[in-house]
This record gives sequence, structure tokens and C-alpha cells, in this order.
Amino acid sequence: MSWKTLDDMDLAGKNVLVRVDINVPVENGIVTDATRIERIVPTIRDILAKGGKPVLLAHFGRPKGKPDPSMSLRIVQPALEKALGQQVTFVERPSRDFIDAQPRDAVILVENTRFSAMEEANDPMMSQFLAGLGDVYCNDAFSAAHRAHASTEGVAHLLPSCAGRLMAEELGALEKALGTPTHPVMAVVGGAKVSTKLDLLGNLVTKVDHLVIGGGMANTFLAAQGINVGKSLCEHDLADTAREILGKAAAASCQIILPRDIVVAREFKAGAAHEVLPPEACPADAMILDAGPATVDYITSVMEESKTLVWNGPLGAFEIAPFNMATNAAARRAASLTKAGHLISVAGGGDTVAALNAAGVADDFTYVSSAGGAFLEWMEGKELPGVAALNR
Ligand code: AMP
Repeated sequence: MSWKTLDDMDLAGKNVLVRVDINVPVENGIVTDATRIERIVPTIRDILAKGGKPVLLAHFGRPKGKPDPSMSLRIVQPALEKALGQQVTFVERPSRDFIDAQPRDAVILVENTRFSAMEEANDPMMSQFLAGLGDVYCNDAFSAAHRAHASTEGVAHLLPSCAGRLMAEELGALEKALGTPTHPVMAVVGGAKVSTKLDLLGNLVTKVDHLVIGGGMANTFLAAQGINVGKSLCEHDLADTAREILGKAAAASCQIILPRDIVVAREFKAGAAHEVLPPEACPADAMILDAGPATVDYITSVMEESKTLVWNGPLGAFEIAPFNMATNAAARRAASLTKAGHLISVAGGGDTVAALNAAGVADDFTYVSSAGGAFLEWMEGKELPGVAALNR
């Protein structure tokens, strides 16, 4: 895969359409976490420095193709101005003349692209309209790249296109982790259910040397091997699928690592009475809520021999102590190995970011992707339309 970056483009005197992800959380009209806004600042600054006029395109919430004032990007404008340290011109209905009439150093924010049903339909009329506003298209929204929408995909075919700084950083990190990784490669996949991660597991077993399966989904694999998992979260109807994945892994020489000991409790609540047992000893009235210390020891020993780590999903019910033990301990070891230069570690997916933040190690990983769906689709080995469009 190869794509152009801002460095390859001549932007002087040009209107640069920039697809960004500023879909930030808001409470009572105030942005409560501006991380996504802060992350697009380098792209906007670089466009301005190269003499381009940034015209920001973004979605905000799910207005379902109709204008809805509670999802207007006006709400985000003050936080964007603060992050950029300059005024931003908001425009509800943009036109080429309006944009051309703005001063050279203006930053223009266009109203929520999803206020039109043509956006999500990837309607060529909307792509044409957007393309008419600009001279160059820059996509800086990896997190929206798994959607083929007018502002993420359609317009990329109509203008000279490139990746923004954040997109290029994200693609570079992902390429290092699964595209052309240094072996041995280890993946950690956890979370609640196997059913949401079937494609991901199927792809990983063909790419990585060691695959840790943790969290609620490990229970499905234990049960598929004839182990009684009591009242644990478990998708019994996926036993055949789990066995197929184990067979595919064996054929690809991928080592599957399941819990070697389990932490069980009778209540799903913080501080619940718990015990550590062998996997086959789960009492009929108990739930497996975490992997035990012997599992963590084994996972970290494999990590120490690995060069690359890809992580999605917690190893246990990480939101409630003490069932965060395995996730925290494994995350801390990954962070220290990364800091010492022994490991390239890439993690992503909503709960994963929360789990690594809770363990206090997110900053020590090589790269933590804040993209949920796009990160998962990339781990599934799928082509992301927004990225593919930049390649053409
Ligand atoms: P996911 O969104 O699929 O990554 O799943 C994350 C969720 O899985 C978190 O809310 C965890 O609490 C939950 N989870 C992880 N392990 C278990 C487990 N053993 N039993 C129940 N829930 C779990």
C-alpha cells in the first residue's frame, strides 16, 4: 500500500478539503474530551504553512441524513478554535465563492456532512459538490475510513488526494504491526464475545505466531474443548466455530494461548469474593471473570520473546477490580518491553483504549489507535474504502 502525504502535494493558493474526525463527546453543549480535535491540529497547521486553505469536512453524531441542531458542528467550533489558537469560520451551506472569498489563512469548518442523506449513501452528486469546493482532498480520519461515504471515499476519486498527518501516522503504525511486521508476532484478543470477532480471529491465525484469547470469549473456547464454564458468559452455539478456528490456527502454526488458570466469582461486582482455579474446576454456580496469575506469567513470557504485539480487547472484566488483574499486568509488561525497545506494540478498539488508560500505560505503547470500527476491520484484514481510495 502506498499513499501520498501532505509532503507530496503542492498546496499553495489551493482550497484543501480535509476529512477529519471531530466526533467528540459533548455534555450540555460543552466538549468534554477534546483529544480528537487536538490530534488534527498538526495537519491543519501544515496545510496553512504550505499556503493552503483548510476546509474541514466532518460528521458529528448520527443525524440520519437530516439537519438536527443538537448535532451541529457549531457546538465543536469553540473547542476547535481553542486547540488551533485561531478563529474558525463556520459555514452551514458552503459554496466555492464563499470559500474563495475567505482570507488565505482562514480555517473553514463545514456543517455536519451527515445532515445530508447523500453522505452515507456515497451519492456521486454529493461527492461532485464537495469536489467543487476544493482543489485537493486530504483524509485525516482513519476512524471513518471503513465507511465508503461521500466525504470519506467518493470525493477522493475526484481530486488529487493524500493522507493527513494523523492518518499517515496511523497507517504507518498499522503497517508495522500486521502488514510487514518483525516476527515473532503476538496478538492479544479479548473482550466479551466471539461472535463480534470471528473475522478478526480468522485473519489473525494466518498472520501471527502466538494468539492469546482472553476475556469472555475465552470461555467459548474452553467450553468447545469440553470444559464446564458454569455461569460464565459463553456462546455455546459457537462451539463448532471455535473448534474451526483452533484447527485453522494449528494448520497455520499459530499457537493459541487460552487461560491456564481462571479467576471465578459468584457475583459480577467490584470486590466480589473470588478464587483462582484450574480452568476445568469452574464451579457450576460461578462465573469466570479474569485469567489467573499463571496465565499472566505465561503470556508475559511469550511477550518477552516476541518482537511485535497487536492488542484488542481486555483479558477480563477490567472495569471491576480485582478482575482487571490480568489485563493490567499484561499491559504493564507490554509497556515496559516497548519502553526498553524490545517490542513494537499497537493496540486499538474502544474498550482496549479504556483498559490501557485504566492500567496507566497507554502512552507507553508504540501506538494506540482511537479508531474503533476501522481498527477492527483493519485487524480483520479488510480493505478500508477510505484508505483504498487514497491508493488509486
Ligand atoms: P469488547 O467490547 O468485545 O472488547 O468487550 C469488552 C467487555 O468485555 C468489557 O466490558 C469487559 O468487562 C467484558 N468482559 C471481559 N471478560 C469478561 C468475562 N470473563 N466475563 C464477562 N465479561 C467480560
